[in-house]
Amino acid sequence: MNQQRIGLGYDIHPFERGKQLTLGGVKIPFHMGLEGHSDGDCLSHSIIDALLGAAAAGDIGKLFGVDKPEYKNAVSLELMRKAWGTLEKKYGIVNIDTVIICQEPKLGGYVQLMKKNIAAALGIKESNVSVKSTTAKKLGEIGKVKAIASRAIVLLVKK
Ligand code: ZN
Repeated sequence: MNQQRIGLGYDIHPFERGKQLTLGGVKIPFHMGLEGHSDGDCLSHSIIDALLGAAAAGDIGKLFGVDKPEYKNAVSLELMRKAWGTLEKKYGIVNIDTVIICQEPKLGGYVQLMKKNIAAALGIKESNVSVKSTTAKKLGEIGKVKAIASRAIVLLVKK
């Protein structure tokens, strides 16, 4: 079997009033969005870091950091496509699993569309993408609805 490589990604963004909330490329109605250089899509950012991590190819800051003005207000799903574009010649994606830690809003109704967007951006089957959401049980900054975090894990196989 070809070599398999695992990668881990983590991201957290604070809420910002008046900004559009975007997760996995899905625009979610809420009175706050996530602060950031881009659209603040921490789910997409965690997947980008997991992909890059699996390939030992650096991190999201190196590719799309605040020092690169061309990525200001970027659509993170597009950044994901771009990041994967640097790896897809050498690797295939076996599967991606993620968990969003979010107290509010409720995300259950949007998870299916997030999976669809991520699969389309990476050119893989929806059945190889998992998006889960959980609350912080009202604990800490996430529990006080001050931030949303996301973790992602990815398995790549060398071509
Ligand atoms: Zn981020």
